[in-house]
Amino acid sequence: MKKFDLAVIGAGPGGYVTAIKAAHLGLSTVCFEKEYVGGVCLNVGCIPSKALIKSAHVFDEMKKAESFGLTLGPDAKPDVNWEALMKRKAGIVSKLTGGVKALMTGAGVTLVEGVATVKDAKHIECNGEEYEVKNIILALGSSPSFPNVPGLKEALEKGDVIDSTGALSLSEKPKEFIVIGGGVIALELASVYNSFGSKVTMIQRSEKILTGMDEEIRTEMGKVAKKAGINLITGTKLLEVKGKTVIYEKDGKREEVSADAVLCCLGRSVNIAGAEALNLEMENKRVKVDEYYQTSVPGVYAIGDMSSKYQLAHVASAEGLCALDHLIGKARTLNYNHMPSVVYGHPEVATVGMTEEEVKEAGIEYEVGKFPVAANGKSMAAGDSTGFIKVISDKKIGEILGVHMVSTAASDMIAEAVMVMELEGTPAEIGNSVHPHPTNVEMVMEAAHMIEGYPIHVRKPRERKKKKK
Ligand SMILES: Cc1cc2nc3c(=O)[nH]c(=O)nc-3n(C[C@H](O)[C@H](O)[C@H](O)COP(=O)(O)OP(=O)(O)OC[C@H]3O[C@@H](n4cnc5c(N)ncnc54)[C@H](O)[C@@H]3O)c2cc1C
Repeated sequence: MKKFDLAVIGAGPGGYVTAIKAAHLGLSTVCFEKEYVGGVCLNVGCIPSKALIKSAHVFDEMKKAESFGLTLGPDAKPDVNWEALMKRKAGIVSKLTGGVKALMTGAGVTLVEGVATVKDAKHIECNGEEYEVKNIILALGSSPSFPNVPGLKEALEKGDVIDSTGALSLSEKPKEFIVIGGGVIALELASVYNSFGSKVTMIQRSEKILTGMDEEIRTEMGKVAKKAGINLITGTKLLEVKGKTVIYEKDGKREEVSADAVLCCLGRSVNIAGAEALNLEMENKRVKVDEYYQTSVPGVYAIGDMSSKYQLAHVASAEGLCALDHLIGKARTLNYNHMPSVVYGHPEVATVGMTEEEVKEAGIEYEVGKFPVAANGKSMAAGDSTGFIKVISDKKIGEILGVHMVSTAASDMIAEAVMVMELEGTPAEIGNSVHPHPTNVEMVMEAAHMIEGYPIHVRKPRERKKKKK
């Protein structure tokens, strides 16, 4: 029987990061992976979707080249080479997953490729071999889940309806593309196919997309989607799926829409196969863990998509490192109010902390600074005018409660907000920190200036009123 200090099951961003760090800390570590090193994120999630988003953006930029003073020759119309862009995406995935494997083995992790079955808190079986370990960190991830709607199961089995993995590897560009769902992944994939020229319809249950985000972001992104040409149908009830036809109710009427590709993107359920013997306690359909990611079974931790309320790659990694610190006697906890989340596309959405609605509901006296992207020099130079940066702070103590942005550079800018919130910073501290010019991140400083009452590159609301009179 092979013996290790630690077994990590699953080599997604939760598992592989944890296994590498454990090995760096000197723990003898074995990591089991049944399908693909890098997990959902690197293989069928974050990375391939961002590769396609980049291709879509380059294509969009090509289409509007004239607005930058650039023209193509008479016959050089921009076009999509589907095979080439899918090949590019596959190349990026393969390079990255190969790199992760090398990092793991280089750090001294024993990587075992196969299905791991946990026998009890100290014993695992994989590829016919037994492993005895002191601790287990489960990082089994999640899989797409589907509601119980007539015809959907059959349509999925026949391939008439696809999940996000299918949508990232279509053999050809669909002429018409339906996306059922209005969450982050749904919007990202709808935007990609819309840019490539498919006629995209999004069918969403609530009145606005991106449920859970700040209302102003939800409104803005609904406008962005419509302006880009997506047929956004909200306030619907999904009734039935018949092959590639989706039947739904809207304003009390039965409607239907058909396409040559239908994506169902309605959430993900946790993976538990391989760990059933532990009989782990569950909560809200996730594995129940405490603040150190310990499950109901002593010595067994669970991290990432299988236990977290935030199904995000960076959250999975952060939880894994935190679980590891607990395991080695350096316990610390994560502040989930400081977890950033991003929707990729053009523009991007990035948020951290409380929404304005949550702040109101908590009865906190607050202030808002909101700076429009259209007033930022770098954005103007890039031809971007959509979006805003919204900073919400506590009126009494000045602490920043939430930052919500729509901008082409939001995914990078949000890191400043996370850091300031981690350090319990105030709008004055952001405003007084000199930001390089011209940059997008100046907009965070400008929004902070607005809370302080000194907007620089937009007029003060009072001045605007005076002018109206
Ligand atoms: C289309 C799409 C786009 C996304 N984009 C983003 C994004 O931009 N940013 C972001 O933060 N998140 C994104 N996500 C979410 C992100 O991919 C997940 O949050 C992240 O992968 C979770 O990491 P994890 O380690 O918990 O699980 P996973 O990545 O799911 O990894 C779990 C691993 O465990 C393995 N496994 C399971 N059971 C066993 C077993 N019994 N034995 C051996 N191995 C096993 C699986 O094969 C898998 O490789 C996206 C997801 C999708 C689907």
